[in-house]
Amino acid sequence: MSIRTRIAPSPTGDPHVGTAYVALFNLAFARSQGGKFLLRIEDTDRQRSTQASEDKILQAFKWLGLNWDEGPDIGGKFGPYRQSERSDIYRKYAYRLVEEGNAFRCFCSAERLEELRKSQMKNRQPVGYDGHCRNLESCEIERRISAKDPFVIRMKVPQHGQCAFDDILRGTISIDWSQIDSQVLLKSDAMPTYHLANVVDDHLMGITHVIRGEEWINSTPKHILLYEYLGWDQPEFCHLPLLRNTDKTKLSKRKNPTSILYYERMGFLPESLLNYLGRMGWSMPDEREKFSLKEMFEAFDISRISLGGPVFDIEKLSWLNGVWIREEFSDEQLANRLYKWAFNQEKLLGFLPHARDRIEILSDLAPLGSYLISGMLQIDRSDLMTSHLDEEQIIQVLQYSIWKLEGLKDWNREEILSACNFVSTMMDLKLKIFLGPVFMALSGSVVSISVMDSMCLLGREMSLARLRHALELMGGVGKKKQKKLEKTFNDAVSSAFI
Ligand code: GLU
Repeated sequence: MSIRTRIAPSPTGDPHVGTAYVALFNLAFARSQGGKFLLRIEDTDRQRSTQASEDKILQAFKWLGLNWDEGPDIGGKFGPYRQSERSDIYRKYAYRLVEEGNAFRCFCSAERLEELRKSQMKNRQPVGYDGHCRNLESCEIERRISAKDPFVIRMKVPQHGQCAFDDILRGTISIDWSQIDSQVLLKSDAMPTYHLANVVDDHLMGITHVIRGEEWINSTPKHILLYEYLGWDQPEFCHLPLLRNTDKTKLSKRKNPTSILYYERMGFLPESLLNYLGRMGWSMPDEREKFSLKEMFEAFDISRISLGGPVFDIEKLSWLNGVWIREEFSDEQLANRLYKWAFNQEKLLGFLPHARDRIEILSDLAPLGSYLISGMLQIDRSDLMTSHLDEEQIIQVLQYSIWKLEGLKDWNREEILSACNFVSTMMDLKLKIFLGPVFMALSGSVVSISVMDSMCLLGREMSLARLRHALELMGGVGKKKQKKLEKTFNDAVSSAFI
């Protein structure tokens, strides 16, 4: 049987280094076994999925050199590879499950489910569906269908006993069925949920090994049950350990930039980033630290992945990047990389229209534009303190701006300006005053080209990373305070919609 693995990202945000890590291990396993690796876009959440995010995922993977054999852009025998183009397929299986008595229509209203959730929480019971519609009389079901009552399709889950399944790295995992919810498979708009679409596609696309992050372990019983109900062979499961911050918490953008495009923008080499990700829980038989993708494929042995939470440490990554530069790149090769990265006509042409009226001699250009190609800036807390705002206000300016900017679907001048207007209005500050700390965080100076243009040229990842860095310099925002600020921010967002 030929090995087939996949990476199945949901296009709901920036391409995450954790996704690249899982993709790398899927690719390495497939290549080491002479198999195929495919890319599938799981965009069944129509509210949160965007084309821009899908484009960025593909762009980031291409930059890294994680090459897939089948995917939405190149097609393949098992396409389409974008779930939004496959809804008829999922619907068919959802109804088959209903007809065979393994799933049922649930007519419960959102209000009833909310009440249920609240009372379960209050009584410290496990939160989940209570089986209200599981055994409705068929005449009642008919009546409600004819009355066009909206419904979802939920899977039946055993009420007693345990689900046991094998994991390549963890051995047998047992989970009580009582902990597994009667999962919705098809939503009331007839779109599938992740669980149904994922299982149907893994089967139809011939996936032999599901290699994914450990956060999916608790979903696996639902998947196993679906394979059983549908009479399909299960793939093998392998749940990789999650990447961690240096303090061992789950990798999060508050502590570490997580977007692959940030690392590209910082000037890390794709070779060294992949090399570093390859060392997350895995090592070469001879333990050497530097190795290429090809060398990893040749030596790859999935059973040698260790489960201790691998720490993603930017300092170590930077060190490894330096080793790659010194050992693998001639001056000429490095010059070519630099050209591709930032020292090129396109970058210059983006900047010049904003810079030309501010320079007299050509050499004025370097100090004016150096912040655009730098990484994190050498600023400190005192640089961010302006005479117009107190410490608390500066923290709020930065935190609210980060939240508002994170939510932008498109990163362009108008959107950025309207985000800044929103936050300054919400804080009752003049735009110019509000922009003081934002500008310092982004450019490290009080004079340069405009904030909006700077943000456009810096791009989303670098702009947000610098704002987060500035917020940290101001002492950060603790959990309790964050909750309070979140509430004020969310209230402002919802009242802006009214
Ligand atoms: N779409 C899921 C994700 O975003 C895929 C999980 C899986 O690999 O099953 O991670």
